[in-house]
Amino acid sequence: MSNSDSPASDFIRDFIDEDLNTKRYTRVHTRFPPEPNGYLHIGHAKSICLNFGIAADYGGLCNLRFDDTNPSKEEVEYVESIQEDVRWLGFDWEDRLFYASDYFEQLYQWAVQLIKAGKAYVCDLTADEIREHRGTLTQPGKDSPYRNRSVAENLDLFQRMRAGEFPDGSRVLRAKIDMASPNLNMRDPVMYRILRATHHCTGDAWCIYPMYDYAHGESDSIEGITHSICTLEFENHRPLYDWYLDALGIYHPRQIEFARLNLTYTVMSKRKLLELVQGGYVSGWDDPRMPTISGLRRRGYTPEAIRNFCRRIGVAKYDGVVDIGLLEYSIREDLNRCAPRVMGVLRPLRVVIDNYPVDQVEELDAVNNPEDPGMGTRKVPFSRVLYIERDDFREEAPRKYYRLAPGREVRLRWAYLITCVGVVKDPHTGEVVELHCTYDPATRGGNTPDGRKVKGTIHWLSAPHAVEAEARLYDHLFTKENPEEAAGGGDFKDNLNPHSLETVRCYVEPSLAAAAPGSRCQFERLGYFCLDAVASSPAHLVFNRTVTLRDTWAKIEKAAAVGQS
Ligand code: ATP
Ligand code: MG
Repeated sequence: MSNSDSPASDFIRDFIDEDLNTKRYTRVHTRFPPEPNGYLHIGHAKSICLNFGIAADYGGLCNLRFDDTNPSKEEVEYVESIQEDVRWLGFDWEDRLFYASDYFEQLYQWAVQLIKAGKAYVCDLTADEIREHRGTLTQPGKDSPYRNRSVAENLDLFQRMRAGEFPDGSRVLRAKIDMASPNLNMRDPVMYRILRATHHCTGDAWCIYPMYDYAHGESDSIEGITHSICTLEFENHRPLYDWYLDALGIYHPRQIEFARLNLTYTVMSKRKLLELVQGGYVSGWDDPRMPTISGLRRRGYTPEAIRNFCRRIGVAKYDGVVDIGLLEYSIREDLNRCAPRVMGVLRPLRVVIDNYPVDQVEELDAVNNPEDPGMGTRKVPFSRVLYIERDDFREEAPRKYYRLAPGREVRLRWAYLITCVGVVKDPHTGEVVELHCTYDPATRGGNTPDGRKVKGTIHWLSAPHAVEAEARLYDHLFTKENPEEAAGGGDFKDNLNPHSLETVRCYVEPSLAAAAPGSRCQFERLGYFCLDAVASSPAHLVFNRTVTLRDTWAKIEKAAAVGQS
């Protein structure tokens, strides 16, 4: 797969090429139109990369527009987080930050124009009655008894709706289209409802608010958008998008739909993510297990990795589900390139090197990134007492287990070869609490002057120099590939993974004591980690595991387990 920034070709770009060739449009102008009712997630990243990416490829422009027509669910916190996330992903709307609420007066005037043209009417049916009148896919709808109100009466009532003379929900303005249309969206859709709610931009200036379908296309038109790219569920709304623009006789952008991103082991709707936040199932929108941009950022994802992921998945016209492994692949690939290697021990086992001088400390050279010699080397202290990973020792070593075991020799990364000569156990529990080893002074740096082969290399820390830290080890938030698949009457929350977060006290190299919040590194053999930008402090380091490395031993064990069953 290509990792270059060259534009991918896809059906949307084909449509745009066609429109430029036929001169339907002579420029390209897109927009990313989030509703500020939650934090952005990785699905939005797909839309952001697409809209800003297309604008960049065609030398065009992309606006950021808040689709803020629903005051009861929208908050300033969301408006701010959305801007931060788009910027962090690497995109710039320059001076083109807009709000649909900026257009409320114009939208109102256009509604008046439609009333005057006999194309909109005030309807007094209740929400339930409107639903009953709408009919079904197989049954045509029924006309509202208010459908044939005079223009004068409609103008008067609509103006009084705006003036606040009627209670919430008592009346709506509807487009007068066709109650027998095979497309339910065309059966006299609601354009305005009465709602007394304070809006984050317009305050209490309005008590009527436009519906999404009416506001969206008209906002696109006002901004001179050429290609209004949205997700597939709006395909059935396109005739309505076109109808409003044609009925008003205003500039007409082209709506193009693409398939939304779905990821395995993930829910993607803001409503569900909000439920997780409000129910305390996660620590917040930026919990590192969340598929939100802010969660991924805190987890240690880079903007490059997310952009590469979006390029890889491409855009399609049919819904599908992308394996979350592809997202993990993208971050591994990027961090492999740029993250310095360090040593950390998650589950320490004490090792005493019996033949190493008691007070001696050596500073050994360690390579910061074998993928990039330019990243240089650093010193790591070595002494008589070490920590190694508990999992790197087995009393009974299975076949192909090349790590430490009684009588076995192993290489300590960047240091010496050691041989296990003794095992100390807790007399009560039988648990191994300490190993005794000898080292071969001729093997400094990990070489064997006599040419003997030692297969295993393990990581380690000098115990007196190691810095204590907290590591947060994350797993998928859900246990099921499709979290929506819940048994008998349950919902996606029944599939939450109780082991999605494991916290361990670990040890890290002294070089990490001064690391900056958010900085990323690879703990050799364990995975990529980043210093938590929220919870970490110099006195209490907190590392988030961004993603594991592919563990060859885990693979062998897994294969063996499958073979046995
Ligand atoms: P959600 O269902 O998560 O609440 P939404 O579509 O209601 O999402 P908006 O804020 O309205 O969220 O979306 C802003 C833009 O992002 C829209 O153009 C929408 O189509 C796009 N978008 C939202 N979710 C996805 C997704 N999973 N994949 C691709 N694009 C998406
Ligand atoms: Mg929405």
